[in-house]
Amino acid sequence: MDDLNDEDWQRLDDAIGQVWQPEEPDMQAADIYGVNRRFENHVRREMHNEEDDIPPRNPRDLPKARRPYRDPLQNQIHSLGPMNIACSQCDALHWKFEKLSASSVRNPKFGNCCLQGQIQLPPLRVPPRYLKDMLCGIANQSKTFRKNIRQYNAAFAFTSLGVKIDHAITNAPGPYSFRIYGELHHHSGALLPEENQPERYAQIYIHNDADQVNLRLANNPQLDPTVMAELQAMIHETHPYVALYRSAYQIMAETPPEQRQNVKVLL
Ligand SMILES: [Zn+2]
Repeated sequence: MDDLNDEDWQRLDDAIGQVWQPEEPDMQAADIYGVNRRFENHVRREMHNEEDDIPPRNPRDLPKARRPYRDPLQNQIHSLGPMNIACSQCDALHWKFEKLSASSVRNPKFGNCCLQGQIQLPPLRVPPRYLKDMLCGIANQSKTFRKNIRQYNAAFAFTSLGVKIDHAITNAPGPYSFRIYGELHHHSGALLPEENQPERYAQIYIHNDADQVNLRLANNPQLDPTVMAELQAMIHETHPYVALYRSAYQIMAETPPEQRQNVKVLL
């Protein structure tokens, strides 16, 4: 093909136009490039005494399915770039490709964070001093607190989670998923445990301070006793429900044991 110049191609086209007539009507359908390729090759061989078939003159002229395949991502690494474009309304970070097509590159707007300022969440409340220090600190105690933060949270919970969990999903590989059947609710049981059962959740709050620490440590022996005592003091000082359960504790203490079953807490 390399040795064919424009003039050669013109001569080739002229020769085909003069000599070749389709012998059968359906050969027109086989004429895929505007000339019958087999016949074109025949003429070419006669003119140039060559054996090679003529490749398509320009692959882009071919139907898509007949063009040579080229992997569009060959030798290319797809990168979204850094996720560093802040929403002007809520400061959430985005990739530049996430901007709304109706907005400009210089003033990008996003629709998947705050709906362009339509949704405004109140700022998080500042936690009590001890909790803030543990959340933000760099001491070893802070690090282990953050590492076990879910267990510390569960140790001080007033209620348990009432759900039917789909464990086929929670134990599957890949990103962590949590799927439940039916409704999610909080389960608050009686203030006194079942016979021979340890105190759990709100049942712990009706004991004196020292007993509370010991009961929680008995349920969570791997947690730090000092941190546990500090958190307990903080929660007793700041949590509104603690006073309610303290009051229940005092009433229970003043009530004869046989009547304690009748003490109720209304939230
Ligand atoms: Zn936003």
